[in-house]
Amino acid sequence: MPDRLGPPLPQPLFEKLVIVGVGLIGSSLLRVARRKGLARVLVGVDRSMDVCARVRELDLADQVYDDAAAAVVGADLVILCTPVGAIGSVAEQIGPHLSAGAIVSDVGSVKGAVVASISPHLPAGVSCVPAHPVAGTEYSGPDAGFATLFHERWCILTPLEDADPKAVDAMNAFWSAAGSKVEVMTPAHHDLVLAITSHVPHLIAYNIVGTAADLEEVTQSEVIKFSAGGFRDFTRIAASDPTMWRDIFLHNREAVLEMLGRFNEDLAALQRMIRWGDGQGLYDLFTRTREIRRSIIEQGQETTAADFGRRTSPDAGSDQ
Ligand code: NAP
Repeated sequence: MPDRLGPPLPQPLFEKLVIVGVGLIGSSLLRVARRKGLARVLVGVDRSMDVCARVRELDLADQVYDDAAAAVVGADLVILCTPVGAIGSVAEQIGPHLSAGAIVSDVGSVKGAVVASISPHLPAGVSCVPAHPVAGTEYSGPDAGFATLFHERWCILTPLEDADPKAVDAMNAFWSAAGSKVEVMTPAHHDLVLAITSHVPHLIAYNIVGTAADLEEVTQSEVIKFSAGGFRDFTRIAASDPTMWRDIFLHNREAVLEMLGRFNEDLAALQRMIRWGDGQGLYDLFTRTREIRRSIIEQGQETTAADFGRRTSPDAGSDQ
């Protein structure tokens, strides 16, 4: 199979890359950084000794630490890949140890709250260029990662207004070399867009799977046995990491509540159509929604393959 990532870069983009939190996203970044030669020295940091041991076994990094403050000394790029709720405390730990000229970034699925929690801890001369790779799977941990996770997926950068343009360009080059398509937007706009495209869909999946599990008149075994009729696809999303998703809803509260309000109004309209037998209304809506899927396929964000385009290879990432 041809290597979708292409050959390594002629020159590394960074001298010392530190990844804090070597889970699905952090380990995928280390893997693609090694394959593409994105940095001369790769450093992995995790608070969990088991994860550190696994990162050594998998040989994902040149150096492995359980102490983020010690790890970041001399780094020119630090990417925080912990759950959103932990990013502020990691920024506080590393702040005094960052070198002038360093770039601090993250991969959190929420941007406004992350920017607010990182910025107070960064010394002068350090640039903050937050990022969100819109790519993921429902699996966690260092074994779940793979080098092509970001390939042809969007990565959204949300630089602060006063960010050094050279740092923004450097992060753009980094994510492009990892295979991503890069877009820049404000943290607030990011949070609104992702609330409707990712956060509310996850909430709906958690809710519908929870409701089915609680139904008394339908047994659990029937829910599992007849799950092919749409429910199964919700269960994949509802299997996503509980810590990560708890943090997303707690840190993107306003945008999620805003989109949920709109969703509830539209659900009430659907309920009315069903009650009053408005077949045309239902048909019109379902025709419009079909078009949305067609556009997603046309833009290369999904395949036309049946079974919701899910493949059995580890490349079968979803957007989160
Ligand atoms: P993950 O697989 O659970 O990995 C997170 C890692 O961070 C774990 O090893 C965790 O250790 C470690 N960690 C937690 N707190 C830490 C701390 N204070 N210091 C050092 N390490 C710490 O999670 P993930 O799926 O990679 O997600 C990481 C980030 O990426 C999140 O902010 C998420 O919003 C974002 N993101 C995820 C996806 C996705 O699909 N998963 C997609 C895009 C963006 P413990 O196991 O000990 O807690």
